[in-house]
Amino acid sequence: MHISRRKTRQIAVGRVKIGGDAPVSVQSMTSTDTRDVTATVEQIRRLEQAGCELIRVAVPDMDAAEALPKIKAQMTVPLIADIHFDHRLALKAAEVVDCVRINPGNIGAWWKTAEVIKAVNDHGIPLRVGVNGGSLERHLLEKYGYPTAEALAESALNAVHALEDVGFTNMKVSLKASDVHMAMDAYWLFAQQSNCPLHIGITEAGTAMTGAVKSSIGLGWLLTNGIGDTLRVSLAADPVEEVKVGFEILKSLELRHRGINVIACPTCGRVEIDVVRLANELEQRLGHIKAPLNVSVLGCVVNGIGEGKEADIGIAGGEGVGILFKKGKLVRKVPMEELMETLIQEVESLAKEKEAEGADDSAVAVAANEGAGEPPWALSGQAVGYPSDHRSTLGREIPVLPNKR
Ligand code: SF4
Repeated sequence: MHISRRKTRQIAVGRVKIGGDAPVSVQSMTSTDTRDVTATVEQIRRLEQAGCELIRVAVPDMDAAEALPKIKAQMTVPLIADIHFDHRLALKAAEVVDCVRINPGNIGAWWKTAEVIKAVNDHGIPLRVGVNGGSLERHLLEKYGYPTAEALAESALNAVHALEDVGFTNMKVSLKASDVHMAMDAYWLFAQQSNCPLHIGITEAGTAMTGAVKSSIGLGWLLTNGIGDTLRVSLAADPVEEVKVGFEILKSLELRHRGINVIACPTCGRVEIDVVRLANELEQRLGHIKAPLNVSVLGCVVNGIGEGKEADIGIAGGEGVGILFKKGKLVRKVPMEELMETLIQEVESLAKEKEAEGADDSAVAVAANEGAGEPPWALSGQAVGYPSDHRSTLGREIPVLPNKR
């Protein structure tokens, strides 16, 4: 299946490009107290090691804003400051960070937003307009009665149009809701009306397992429909898990091919090696690898080597030994007690070869945008029409949703 990505205008958060033909990037947010520089930097380093491409930190007060230079000096990926309520924190943060996120629903009067725009513009950094179902403007709550996808889309469109009307376009937008359908609908509605790049996510998605499922469904549907330029999976867990899930979503859709993709059989009565332990340990220990590699762990040789034909390298259980294979061809037998270390060494050396060849998954996303023709989401927009009673407060029309359920 070919995914035709929505053609958005491109912005740059530090050295990471977002939108246009850039790959969908994966970001996360620290869970430490930002004022605790040591703990925050330690978590940032673990996120960087896991491949996180953009890192956001909460800036709840001026002490946190003043910690930003020390944090920024000790990290390599772009830093985003997350600001609510007090625009003065955004002004301070803009001196240091690569992007500022504000929420139009709680930043207050327009002049405060205008000051933030001037600050980010002066520093040449983009703004993220982060609309959230839990903090919509009062006039939209009165209009819609309660948070809806239409209210979220209208809030985001109003903010984007207001910024564009004063000549500011260096921004990305997020429309977050914890309800998966509401988030999908809101992003879809917005995508019909603007070419602004989108940060996609399901907010407060849940624990590592439930949050991963909700995010995979919501973000998976959006990405399959070409919507989304950067993503964050929100989990009540170690943020490193967010990065892992984010890349797994993109790898499943073949939008990114970064790192190892472990193919493990579910095991059955024929299993001859500890597939579960091996697969989990491989994922844990090989998370630093950037080259795209399919690694297969299969319980037996009955179907094993054949089933693992698509894998670059893999292991299958034999009679008291492991069978190491590459591209479906047997390489050698490995004693049981050496299986794990042998596989790790082999994968690392294969990864080095691939990295030396310049294996880079950014080409995957570029290809997704090329020759896409008219994206399906645009056609859906035309098909559903634009009823006159769906107008944003700036008078622009908002389309109704396609019948996707
Ligand atoms: S590879 Fe072997 S052990 Fe694994 S599910 Fe298939 S038959 Fe069972």
